[in-house]
Amino acid sequence: MTDQPSRREFVGVVAAAAALAALPGLPRPAWAMPARRRVAFAAKPFDLHRVRLLPGIFRDDVEVNRRYMMALDPDRLLHSFRITAGLPSTAEPYYGWEAPNNELRGHFVGHYLSGCALLAAQLGDGAVKARGALMVAELAACQAASGYLSAFPVELVDRLKARRGVWAPFYTIHKILAGMLDCHALSGNAQALEVARGIGRWTRDWVAPVDDVSMQRILNTEFGGMGESLRQLSVVTGDASFLDVAHRFDHERVLAPLAEGRDALKGVHANTTIPKIIAAARLYEINGDQRSHDIANYFWHEITSKRCFATGGSSSGEGWPSEAGMLAKELAPDTEESCVTYNMLKLTRQLFSWTADPTMADYYERALFNGMLGTQHPADGEKIYYTPLQSGYWRMFGTPDHGFWCCHGSGVESHSKFGDSIYFHDDDGVYVNLFVASELDWADKGVTMVQDTTFPTSDTTRITVRMAKPTRLKLRLRIPYWVAGAPTAKVNGKRIATTPAPSSYLVIDRVWRDGDHVELTLPMALHVHPMPDDPTLQAVMYGPLVLAGKLAPEPTRAGPTPPRMSPDFTVPPLPVAAIVAPSIDVTSWVKPVRGKMLEFTTVGQANNFAMAPFHAVFDERYVVYWKVGRAG
Ligand SMILES: [Zn+2]
Repeated sequence: MTDQPSRREFVGVVAAAAALAALPGLPRPAWAMPARRRVAFAAKPFDLHRVRLLPGIFRDDVEVNRRYMMALDPDRLLHSFRITAGLPSTAEPYYGWEAPNNELRGHFVGHYLSGCALLAAQLGDGAVKARGALMVAELAACQAASGYLSAFPVELVDRLKARRGVWAPFYTIHKILAGMLDCHALSGNAQALEVARGIGRWTRDWVAPVDDVSMQRILNTEFGGMGESLRQLSVVTGDASFLDVAHRFDHERVLAPLAEGRDALKGVHANTTIPKIIAAARLYEINGDQRSHDIANYFWHEITSKRCFATGGSSSGEGWPSEAGMLAKELAPDTEESCVTYNMLKLTRQLFSWTADPTMADYYERALFNGMLGTQHPADGEKIYYTPLQSGYWRMFGTPDHGFWCCHGSGVESHSKFGDSIYFHDDDGVYVNLFVASELDWADKGVTMVQDTTFPTSDTTRITVRMAKPTRLKLRLRIPYWVAGAPTAKVNGKRIATTPAPSSYLVIDRVWRDGDHVELTLPMALHVHPMPDDPTLQAVMYGPLVLAGKLAPEPTRAGPTPPRMSPDFTVPPLPVAAIVAPSIDVTSWVKPVRGKMLEFTTVGQANNFAMAPFHAVFDERYVVYWKVGRAG
């Protein structure tokens, strides 16, 4: 999220660049092109309510988030909406980015709607669903008076037309629109769709008098996923006019270089950009527009191959400050904004459905375990903004009444939906992309699959198939990029002869009977993820997991005062001496701790450090990237 005061310079640069951009000859509206083909999806995700999480780290995480979500007070969340609508409210508002004088107020409420819808679907939880319905009804009452729904006056939105400074009003409106669409899609809430339709109409009226050149200038102010959600609104309502409105949010200065296969991302704000690509991907899915496909495809490959850290996260200081592939100097206290990981996971889910490409599922696993899982504190459900990757820093979390940052909002969604993207399907069978304890109900085929595993504590997962009558299916098991040695698979205890390569699928095509089971073992080993521009700067991994060295307890735990988004830049990081290794092989300086699962230690150094999976390191200073030199 662009930060209000400290990002002014950035906004100025963007505005100047836009003024110079060659706006004559904007491409023909993509939505106006006749659909050249109906998009054939290679694999479709299952609806969230079809996948139940079984006990394990992901289920635990979702339960912590549920407690956090239900402890929030609806009247406090609704306060600024009611005041803006002229309705009475005596509730004490929340603070941070939800404070009554904050130009972004209300954005968290949009995420909260999505979070309630996702949680209710994920857990089958009636109380959470009812909380979402209450919020929808109260927000509908706020919308009823004027047709405008926001926690801030319309004057803030109108500043965009008047070229007056304002933070990001459409960013906030998008969150509310997306929340309403989620409540409709996941909870069947008809009122939410009507509110969403109202937001769409209001937006249509707002953009109507704005000419294209002015609109492109307005798009330099962060606007979230307006394009994506308006396209979704069009699909759900069948109202094609919302496609027109969505197109007004296509930001050509960002899209044009990507369409040419050109990385012009240096200096660009990361989380402002990705939703624009997701909107393009959504357009491709709706009408088969090849340009939009190519934009999303190029962008995904560029980011994941050249602009991501070992964790799957991306961004430093909220942007991409360097040329592609130059990451070694980007390690800082404010690396890896969590919203960026949230949006990259969304985009990856989309692109995987087009291709069933196992390397995309590899990335999803990397970012999920290392970039997302550790962004919620297990004690209280508070969320982080950045994940510092400069050695010697630590994770900072919000506090109960404060924070409500953008990442706080995307965090309540991310930690509500860990059943998503474990499984995909086509007509022939199932893709098992993630090794997460869960139960899949494929109702259309009358098939249930139970995945029993304590992965990654164990390298084995067992899938049992339940069905009323024998059914032919392809069970496709992802063989990850990190597999060390030969994976093994047994069907009903009998080993099958196969040697699948890393980053591929092991396909078991057979007639399955009730109770059939598959056991898949994926050997893990230590390996490193070096910086692309400095091979001596290395993150240590074990299987899919980034390992972090534990240095010392963090100097401050966020207290009752307003928390910071990142460790104070004036607090020095703990220095970490370079590793002196006898060989380039990581096993020469990292050893497993005997008898302990997923515990490691450096060896042979003046000071040695305990190492653990990064996602489980809280309240401590840590190191992820080690400087490694050869002894002698
Ligand atoms: Zn954020």
